[in-house]
Amino acid sequence: MNKIGGEKQLGETTHASPIVKCDVCGQRFNRRHLSSHKRRSHGKSNNSALDTTDEAKAVETILTLYLQLSTTSRSDVLKRLTSLA
Ligand SMILES: [Zn+2]
Repeated sequence: MNKIGGEKQLGETTHASPIVKCDVCGQRFNRRHLSSHKRRSHGKSNNSALDTTDEAKAVETILTLYLQLSTTSRSDVLKRLTSLA
C-alpha cells in the first residue's frame, strides 16, 4: 500500500475517457459526457446546427466546383455520382 499524500492524482481521471473542453462554453467534461452536455446545453443553437452547416458548406463547395467544370466534365461527374448513390 503506497501512501502518496492526500492530493488527488491525475490517475483519477485517466481511468475513464479523456477530459475534453467544451468548445462552446469552455467547461471541461469527460469525453463521453461532452456530447450529451452539448446536446443538452448547446444542442438547440450550436451543435446540431454545426453539423448541418458543415454539410451545407460541403454541398455548396461541391456545387461551386461543379459549376466551374466543362460540360464534358460535368456529365462525367454526374455519372460518377450516380454510380455512388
Ligand atoms: Zn458547453
